[in-house]
Formats: sequence, C-alpha cells, structure tokens
Amino acid sequence: MSQAAVAPVLVIHGGAGVIRHDMTPPKEKAVRAAMTQALQEGYAKLKAGKSALDAVASALTVLEDDPNFNAGKGAVFTHDGKNELDAAIMDGYTLRAGAVAGVQRVKNPILLARAVMEQSPHVMLSGAGAEAFAQSVGMPLVDPSYFRTEERWQQLQKALKEDAAKQPHADVETAKHFGTVGAVALDAQGHLAAGTSTGGMTDKRWGRIGDSPVIGAGTYANSGCAVSGTGWGEFYLRTVAAHEICMKVTQMRVPLKRAAAEVINQEIPSMGGNGGAIALDAQGHISIPFNTDGMYRGWIGADGVPHVAIYGDEDDGTAEMPAPAGSIAQP
Ligand code: ASP
Repeated sequence: MSQAAVAPVLVIHGGAGVIRHDMTPPKEKAVRAAMTQALQEGYAKLKAGKSALDAVASALTVLEDDPNFNAGKGAVFTHDGKNELDAAIMDGYTLRAGAVAGVQRVKNPILLARAVMEQSPHVMLSGAGAEAFAQSVGMPLVDPSYFRTEERWQQLQKALKEDAAKQPHADVETAKHFGTVGAVALDAQGHLAAGTSTGGMTDKRWGRIGDSPVIGAGTYANSGCAVSGTGWGEFYLRTVAAHEICMKVTQMRVPLKRAAAEVINQEIPSMGGNGGAIALDAQGHISIPFNTDGMYRGWIGADGVPHVAIYGDEDDGTAEMPAPAGSIAQP
C-alpha cells in the first residue's frame, strides 16, 4: 500500500445514550465545545505528522479533563462512592496495546495506558499496582476527590435509592453508563490507533471492569481497522465487539459500515445490550453506528473542519462522506 497520499482522519465519541430531554442548553454547548477542542488538538498532531497514537491520546486527554464526560474528571461513582477508572489504547500498526483498570488516583488514565504499552512488559495493569507503576514512570497522582462532580454524585444517590427500593434501574441504558470517551485515528503513514477511557457504570460494585479497557471488547486496532465502543459493557465483552468488527473488515472483507452495524445494531441488541461505536478503516472510511437515542460523536478529516453531533436525528456528515482524496477504494 502506498503510504504517501493518506489523508489523516480522527473520529471521537463521548458516549452513547444521551436523551434530548436530559440535556440543557449550557450542557449541550459545553459538550460541543469540548468535542470540538478534542478534535482540533488531536488533528493538529496528525497534521504535524505525528502518529495516530499521539492523536488518540491528545484528543482523549482533553475529554478526560472535561467534567461533562464519564472519564477522568467527571467519572461516575461506584456503589461505594468511589471513582474507579478504566482505559486502553492500541496501536494498529504494531498491535501493541496498553490498558489500566480500576485506578483511583491517575488524572489521565489514557496516558497511563499508553505508558503501560510503551514502558512496561505488560498489557494490562489494575488498581494499586497500576498506580505504583504510574509513580515509577513519573506520572503524578491526584487526590481521589479531583474526579468528583456533583452531577455524578447525584446520579449515584438516585441509583442507590432505586437499589433500596428494589426498583429496576430505569436509566440503565442512559445515565448509568453514559459519557465514556473514545477515539480512533488514521495518520499520514496510513497507521491506525484506537483508545477508550471511562469511569464505567454508576453504582458498579465488586471491582467491576467493563469492556473499555479490555483489548478486543471496547478497544481494538489493527492495520486495517480501529474501533472504540461505548455502551453497556457486559455485552461488548461477550461479543468481543471491537475485535469482531475489525475481523469482519480485515479477514472477511466486509465493508466497514456493514461490519460495524452488524455488531452494534444486530448482535448486541439481540442479546439485550445497547450502545454505539466509532470505527475507521485504513482508507479513511468512518462508521458511527449506535442504537441509543443519541451519541456524542465527532470527526475531522481532509478539510480540517470539526464535525460534532449529539442526537440520533442529527446529521453527523458521515453518511455521504466521500472517501478521502488519495485513499484506496473500499473493497
Ligand atoms: N462501556 C462502558 C462500560 O461498560 C460504559 C460506556 O461506554 O458508557 O464500562
């Protein structure tokens, strides 16, 4: 494959599940601004000739630092009132990957995941061990109170009341697991990368770990496909969703949009799950399927203009998107 003419692309998500009546104009404005900034910062890396990994890490750092997303600051609370953060990153070119689960004091879990990939012999570290590793590579730790926001705290109080009343969680598809962040990128060398960062699900217990930090489930990239998922993690784990999409694309030659739709809009709902994903192939084709009312999503490509959308009935500009100039036609 000729590498010279590849037009870089960055696609991000800020979680599936949003419903219009839960949004306020100030929140919507803040979310759109943060998504735009994440796209611009990540894309600047790609334009400067940096790697897809750099773009993914930079976009996700912006979203982790923004309290409107369920990742880094603003993460959801566990049943015990803590924030336990999960993240993963994968380099499609080398198939190297790094992940962390259940960390409570790392400001940017996506950067720690990358450090695990680049500076440890392992792929996945958890809890106190992951934090000890963070310190060993000079990553400063923050007080756990850094992650707290009042909105997330109130979501936990609501879930705890529902637990006590033995009510089913009416919001299990929405607020409980909403706001995870993810990114997939294609760089000028034609290399792909994927990353995901989350606080998981409100009211999670017993050290629950979702799909986001599990390579193949919520996060996966190879030489032809990169995916970051968001949704009810147990179902993404059981379908190995991100890997499944990429295997369809790279092994079975299924076009990206169809592959992603088969997993997100058929396999997962048929089992009772829900959510969405962002997917990107090595030709720059984008797919953003979701089966919830909305999904925070955005992309930026050859024209350098950030495209951001929230609701299901909002055009995100990917449907009629032409393949980027200089790219190879999709099989
Ligand atoms: N998939 C994440 C989890 O289950 C949550 C989300 O994407 O909103 O931990």
